[in-house]
Amino acid sequence: MKIRTRFAPSPTGYLHIGNIWVAFLNWLFTRQNRGSIILRIEDIDGERSKLEYIKALKEDLEWLGLDWDEGPGFTYSYGSTIQSERLGLYKSLIHKWGNNGDAYPCYCTRARIHKIASAPHRGEQLPIYDGYCRNTLTTIDEKHKIKPSWRFKIKEKETVSFSDIFHKKQYYNLMPNRDDFVIMRADGMVAYQLAVSYDDGAMDITHVFRGEDLLSSTFYQIKLLKELGYQLPVYGHLPLLVDKEGIRLSKRQKGITIRSLRNSGITVNDIIGKLLFWAGAISKPEKISLCYAKNNISFNECHNLTKKTISI
Ligand code: GLU
Ligand code: ZN
Repeated sequence: MKIRTRFAPSPTGYLHIGNIWVAFLNWLFTRQNRGSIILRIEDIDGERSKLEYIKALKEDLEWLGLDWDEGPGFTYSYGSTIQSERLGLYKSLIHKWGNNGDAYPCYCTRARIHKIASAPHRGEQLPIYDGYCRNTLTTIDEKHKIKPSWRFKIKEKETVSFSDIFHKKQYYNLMPNRDDFVIMRADGMVAYQLAVSYDDGAMDITHVFRGEDLLSSTFYQIKLLKELGYQLPVYGHLPLLVDKEGIRLSKRQKGITIRSLRNSGITVNDIIGKLLFWAGAISKPEKISLCYAKNNISFNECHNLTKKTISI
């Protein structure tokens, strides 16, 4: 089996060290296993995504030497790797599911959803739903007033499980109503869960490396991948990098973007050495070239990857 992985940044800002942590480990694993890396631009959020950031992230990856095999501009047989150019594919799925009853329109206001679930769901931003619109035939009048979001319908209780490379066996019971998750927002924006699942399946991705914060999203994505009849990838959820106060780096990204590090004189080899040190592959931070890492430091020597967070 040919290994295929993806690095899937959202172009809503400059790449920071947390993004590169994921990109580098994905790169190391893939290059050592002679696989292909797909650079997928996750720009379905048209308001926040900017062309300038796509250009910048390619520059930053190139500066670091983290190359890819398929990406914007060269894609072989898988179609575009830019999600905004794949919207028709996602929308036709939503249409199909809407017609055959696998998805239903939800007219609930944000305020109502917040009222039923002020507590976040499994530490994530997916709110609990009570199925209000699932069984209610909404009146035409209501339909004229507001546009619905669309929810994927969980037909019956189902235990979804997967074995994460670093976190071992994971289980979750998907429940009707509660877990009917949004696949398209009321403003027409396709939901991350749908786009990412469809693309991981359609692009034959075999291994997904990403941050631990997405661990609980995986259950919904597996549900969709199965629905679509795709082979499931292997998942590896990586520990999040946090600062000394335990705050996720992405929240404080200004000072640690790759461009700001480069401008302050830090070299690529400094960065690669740091990443390998945090991963537990070397005992003290030292300058290491990407080429040396690829040839001499096995991905399996990254002993810290079973942690939840890494304080830097
Ligand atoms: N586009 C997502 C992000 O930047 C990545 C999602 C994923 O790897 O599944 O957070
Ligand atoms: Zn509803």
